[in-house]
Amino acid sequence: MLDFQLSPEQKALRDRARRFAREEVLPVAWYYDEIDEIPLAVLEKAMDAGFINADIPREYGGLGFGLVEAAVVTEEMAAACPGLATSIFDSSLGMEPLILCRNEELKKRMFSEALVSGIRFAFATSEPTMGSDVAGLRCLAAERGDHWELTGTKYWVTNGGVCDYMSVFATEDPKAKHSGIGAFLVDMRCKGITVGEPIPKMGQRCSNTVGVRFDRVKVPKTHVLAEPGDGFALAMGTFARTRPIIGAFAVGAARSAMEFALEYAKKRRAFGSPLSGFEAIQFKLAEMYQKVETSRLLTWKAAWRADQGKDPTISASVAKFYASEAAWEVVDEAMQVMGGYGYTKLFPVEKLLRDVRLLRIYEGTSEIQRLIVSGWLLSEYKPVMPPLEELHVHRRKDPSMEKETSWRCRMCGHLHYGEEAPESCPVCHFPETAFTRGE
Ligand SMILES: Cc1cc2nc3c(=O)[nH]c(=O)nc-3n(C[C@H](O)[C@H](O)[C@H](O)COP(=O)(O)OP(=O)(O)OC[C@H]3O[C@@H](n4cnc5c(N)ncnc54)[C@H](O)[C@@H]3O)c2cc1C
Repeated sequence: MLDFQLSPEQKALRDRARRFAREEVLPVAWYYDEIDEIPLAVLEKAMDAGFINADIPREYGGLGFGLVEAAVVTEEMAAACPGLATSIFDSSLGMEPLILCRNEELKKRMFSEALVSGIRFAFATSEPTMGSDVAGLRCLAAERGDHWELTGTKYWVTNGGVCDYMSVFATEDPKAKHSGIGAFLVDMRCKGITVGEPIPKMGQRCSNTVGVRFDRVKVPKTHVLAEPGDGFALAMGTFARTRPIIGAFAVGAARSAMEFALEYAKKRRAFGSPLSGFEAIQFKLAEMYQKVETSRLLTWKAAWRADQGKDPTISASVAKFYASEAAWEVVDEAMQVMGGYGYTKLFPVEKLLRDVRLLRIYEGTSEIQRLIVSGWLLSEYKPVMPPLEELHVHRRKDPSMEKETSWRCRMCGHLHYGEEAPESCPVCHFPETAFTRGE
């Protein structure tokens, strides 16, 4: 069964998120963007309203939201402010390794603490010298009796300065690459942690992004999310479940830009007509809507796959790179429709353009998503069509006529009909051995 409808509960959740986004996020977004600061008070309200850590599984007492619910909520938040949406969603990114790990004791303890005291999680694979190449991380994890000791620097950590716990990926031996990496849930109150100044960014300035230094930080063995050797797979498994949500950021931001452009095009006049009277503008609007719709479908499909317990990796990558690139194009075109006013800080599209640019970079750049998808296509994709050299087309007008034996030249595709292959191909001159026999 295929169903593109949200359930009544999901619609109610969307409406609640939409209200929160319009009443709590939208009115403060520009101010915090201007002062380059994370609005902690809004994050706290989002936590109280149940929009943060809502994915704590039901068996641990949580709301057990799936990725479809996360996508629905995130689209609304990002429509108001992609930066604040990042801050709100980031706790799910930080918590995902805990959800996926096999450390039951830690899950029980952390989820109950999260439900009682509303703690925030962050996620750290990236470092000053690597981002895409996760296997190349250098933060060291050394085993010391009953604990692990972490030493190194994590960089670009969203909410790193305002989180309570961080999922930190570190390696026993940088030379071991994938097979040296483990993951550790670090209590940010531990001794030896230094949080840097917020990194000044072009957009998403309502989110906190910092470098974090770990200097022989003791992590009890009870806080291991993945033993060295299992951490790389845990990081990839996390991204497969969080990348659809980057698609949802893109949908929300693009939808808003489209709506602002639509409204402006109806009101602004040029050459005696509203802008919306010009076909060039109408077509821009149509393409914006097409991209918003396509992005949402891909995002929901990836989220749905994850919720069905299917591997979402490829759908997630497709959704992430399609939607984030489409959002950039939509917001750019919205700015074009709004002309000079679109370029000013007095209208919202300029901020959206700065904010959506990040979507093509974090959680795996567009290039990395293309590597994932092309790698899968070239190694695992199962084609429906026969290989080209086996493509035999019959000359029969109607299927009841007797079948002829056909021979196909593997080189140029020439089809020869008859009991024997020709001595050489009359088109490309390759010898008889180039011919394969059809059924
Ligand atoms: C605001 C912000 C927030 C972030 N939040 C977090 C966070 O919370 N946690 C976290 O761990 N990280 C976070 N990141 C880091 C982010 O995931 C990385 O920036 C991203 O993965 C790219 O890594 P990089 O910046 O090191 O670029 P690099 O890996 O150095 O890549 C530079 C360029 O080269 C391309 N490239 C690299 N390798 C290949 C290849 N094999 N083939 C083709 N092209 C390639 C990339 O696509 C990119 O265009 C954040 C980053 C930003 C900017």
